[in-house]
Amino acid sequence: MQNEPIHSLYDEEDSFRDHIATVDEKGKRKWIFPKMTKGAYTLARKYLAWVLIAILFIGPFLRYDGQPFMLFNVLERHFILFGIVFMPQDFHLFVLAMITFVMFIVLFTVIWGRLFCGWICPQTIFMEMVFRKIEYWIEGDGPQQRKLSSAPWNMEKTTKRTIKYALFYLISFLIGNTFLAYIIGSDAVLKIIQEPVSNHIAGFSAMLLFSGIFFFVFAYLREQVCTAICPYGRLQGVLLDANSIVVAYDHVRGEPRTKLAREVKTGGDCIDCKQCLYVCPTGIDIRNGTQLECTNCTACIDACDDIMIKINRPTGLIRYDSHNGILSGSKKIWTNRVKAYSLLLILLLSVLGFLLGTRGDVELTVMRTPGMLFQENPDGQISNLYNFQLANKTNKPIQIKMITKTEGATIKIIGALNLLPASEVSKGSFFIYLPKNKLEDRKTEVNLTIMQGQKVLTSTSTNFMGPITFK
Ligand code: SF4
Ligand code: SF4
Repeated sequence: MQNEPIHSLYDEEDSFRDHIATVDEKGKRKWIFPKMTKGAYTLARKYLAWVLIAILFIGPFLRYDGQPFMLFNVLERHFILFGIVFMPQDFHLFVLAMITFVMFIVLFTVIWGRLFCGWICPQTIFMEMVFRKIEYWIEGDGPQQRKLSSAPWNMEKTTKRTIKYALFYLISFLIGNTFLAYIIGSDAVLKIIQEPVSNHIAGFSAMLLFSGIFFFVFAYLREQVCTAICPYGRLQGVLLDANSIVVAYDHVRGEPRTKLAREVKTGGDCIDCKQCLYVCPTGIDIRNGTQLECTNCTACIDACDDIMIKINRPTGLIRYDSHNGILSGSKKIWTNRVKAYSLLLILLLSVLGFLLGTRGDVELTVMRTPGMLFQENPDGQISNLYNFQLANKTNKPIQIKMITKTEGATIKIIGALNLLPASEVSKGSFFIYLPKNKLEDRKTEVNLTIMQGQKVLTSTSTNFMGPITFK
């Protein structure tokens, strides 16, 4: 599975690079064996990671009013966010929510860089806090892993790799099933697991597919997801500016680099120990400045702080700071760019909040039945045939009736329309009858109202067609 390293990643000179750190001159993958890190940031990230992992795994089993708390059923276009049901009829809300979310990401990134990648992104959390930890446990620290990787396939290597990949697959299977549970619901996933495979060929195939994808990502792709695939990472170049706070090396304080071993240290604080480089999971040297590959994982901060403590110098040679902050000694967050983005975000949030707040429990869509104009009835009334869709956006069935408030008009539903099942769209047809003397023109506007007892749930109007001679 692993590529054998052609040469050590760390043999390279510290010159500024114009190529990705994990690919050699011939385009071949250079495998990274980061050293273990310890320190305040790593510890904080570890605690946060366990909380987020717990939330992710518990999420599909949470219920609100008997329904999943979160569901992203793209197959049936049925979504539940924090217990609120969203249906295809809410597509405009979905689009607006996506635009708002992108705006939030833009604002957040302008201020805090890739903070999300290092602390919250599931890829980083699972890679660094689960799969990497298992690797350390089985194969040892970075240098031992490199040694094992270059060793011939003897009993030790075969055993370690077999155990490692078996555990990797097991965890990938758990992640894959959780992912599936967010799409089809935890009950459906449990059914697939408990019942014979032949009853759920599609579901079982989806399980294997998701597990295989996650295994491939965490066993092989790894940092390539962050450095070459993730679109958010690619956006950094346009989002970051000199005031963005990122994991940064204080070149003012650190340069010129000098070896501590050379009696009295007269240069900068960086002793060129390369510990920051050895722990980096994307294989970069943060001293070359902010780079697209940096996921802000903070490993280099902890590694450098550890060195600074050992050589009796202040910590924070690598820290969260902006380029301008390093040059001037003070951070400026409230820039004109941040103000403009904040204003836009507040506007978008206000519109979204208003639309969500005024969103009804039931949505009625009415369309004239294609190919039908109007009918003249023996009793002198004119009738029009319509198709309707009624979406119940709640978790409970609703008892309803359809009425019209247009004078003289009557409604006749084809079949029955009493109960709207929870979170479903009911479809049907109905006639509207209007006496000839009530026709205003070739088109007459007719009101349609959906009632729950005495409460109006929603109302709309539709055009009623009649012969032009009755104007
Ligand atoms: S860990 Fe700190 S001192 Fe060592 S090379 Fe990196 S920046 Fe310099
Ligand atoms: S440069 Fe530092 S923060 Fe960035 S990915 Fe490497 S170790 Fe993590």
